[in-house]
Amino acid sequence: MSLQTHEAAPISDVRVRHVVMPKEDPTWRFALGARADSVGVLLEMEDADGVVGLGYASEVPHLGYDIDVLEAVVRARTAVARQAPALDRQALVGSPWQQSLPAPVRSLFDMAWHDLVAKKAGVPLYRLLGGRSGVTLRVNRILALKTPDEMAAVAAGLAAEGYDHFKIKIECRPMALDIARIRAIREAVGPGAVMTIDANQSYTAKEAVILGEAIADTGVQVFEQPVPRGDIAGLRWVRTRSNLTIEADESADSLESVAAMLKAEAVDAVSLKLSKLGGIDALMIAANLCAAQGVGARIGAHVGSRIMNAAALHAASALPHIEPFAELGEFARLTNDVARGLEVVDGGIAVPTRPGLGVSLV
Ligand SMILES: [Mg+2]
Repeated sequence: MSLQTHEAAPISDVRVRHVVMPKEDPTWRFALGARADSVGVLLEMEDADGVVGLGYASEVPHLGYDIDVLEAVVRARTAVARQAPALDRQALVGSPWQQSLPAPVRSLFDMAWHDLVAKKAGVPLYRLLGGRSGVTLRVNRILALKTPDEMAAVAAGLAAEGYDHFKIKIECRPMALDIARIRAIREAVGPGAVMTIDANQSYTAKEAVILGEAIADTGVQVFEQPVPRGDIAGLRWVRTRSNLTIEADESADSLESVAAMLKAEAVDAVSLKLSKLGGIDALMIAANLCAAQGVGARIGAHVGSRIMNAAALHAASALPHIEPFAELGEFARLTNDVARGLEVVDGGIAVPTRPGLGVSLV
């Protein structure tokens, strides 16, 4: 079955809900901000046969996507969906390269459309995307900025739950504190755990190289977004001088920017997120562009509902070159999810097998 030729019934109802997901740890903080909850928008798109597709988008203030704007655009866009004579994906989402709607809004409608179409077909979404069955990714859990001892204690608790991949937030205020954090966490999780670091743009290129040398003995593998998002030359400069895998996150905020970074040979890997790129198709295009250039493609954090995490996991299942660990477990530290049907088991997450995204509303 082709997604493009599938005939769907007209949309009969579109519902939008504001969602607040309090964090279990209200002091959770990274280099670009802190807040005690994750807020987002839920979309339920129902067709005339009563089948409902689910979409979700979280606020991403550090990329310029505030919740008020996202929610207003989603609500305005529902008028387009309601007037569609049939479930018209092009009308809802536009082209993956189109920038006229905020990327999280495109992602939300795209997600709901994919969920609905796969449910109508009675198959898990990854099958419509050409994916393999039974894909399980290791879950890279993110450690928020705290004292070294506090971060090590959080990491030890997660390791006891079965996690073996950890992403350490750093901030370069001062660098010595980051080094102490990394060493304390390595001590806590043991030599076998995979460790990555994420500066969220808080280092200069020179500082990033110095840090890389200072932690060479700790076995950290990936250094995510060391420098400001616009500093592509800086990313490349760090890449050519560091043994760490240099990964872009905030710099990879659209398909265009991914393509530009590949052309500049600026990074070794790219963190892919539905909300940055604008949906499943866009994420898969970005991943395939990376693979064609020999650059790593990894599924980054989808902080918010299980709905988003399930969508990213289905896409990953259809990407043979995707990195085997992903940041798809952050829902575990949030409460009040509107959806269920996806859990981390022993530090891994398996693609759902039920029709559509495989998650349902609570
Ligand atoms: Mg990041």
